[in-house]
Amino acid sequence: MHATHPAVGAARIGPNSIIQTVGALEEERGYKETQNFLRRIGQGDFADQLPTTMIDELAFISLIGAIRADMGVEAAGRILARAGERTADYLLANRIPAPAHLVLPRLPRRLGLSLLLKAISGHAWTFAGTGRFSYTVDAKGAVLSLADSPESRGIVADAPICHYYERCFQALLRPLIDRRLVVREVACTAQGAEACVFEVR
Ligand SMILES: [Zn+2]
Repeated sequence: MHATHPAVGAARIGPNSIIQTVGALEEERGYKETQNFLRRIGQGDFADQLPTTMIDELAFISLIGAIRADMGVEAAGRILARAGERTADYLLANRIPAPAHLVLPRLPRRLGLSLLLKAISGHAWTFAGTGRFSYTVDAKGAVLSLADSPESRGIVADAPICHYYERCFQALLRPLIDRRLVVREVACTAQGAEACVFEVR
């Protein structure tokens, strides 16, 4: 299921979606229980070996669904938020060039946000799969939009549910822009919105 099939144009997403979600599960439930869980939900391949290349985004979507079904939406939200934070930590350590760490926080906030969000936008498919990322920078911060978010696709809920993305954006933006900023999902396709909307304030 998680093999890549470029020939048939499978929708792909970066392996961190799986790696960091499994890591967050292990933090919460321990290694052994996580292994058992992955086998029980039919993703035993990830118990044996975590992916190292792009994967079918359906593997991430089905892992999210299995976590929610197994642990309830609230506990799943906590685990997915932690997975988002771990993903941001990985990106900060491995994908954001050292000069950006030094320069971005010193720029006027609006300029820093514009530069960083443009760079994030260029790599959006690696974390959003077929979700479509866009943004606007305004006087109060920024507004991020994720259409067809893998985290809320096909879900109906009465509150925003994309905790992975909410926390990932916040953990990524804080050290590079302003440690005090807060990212909050204010509209979610799970509530019937056209896209998931995250305010950066
Ligand atoms: Zn959402």
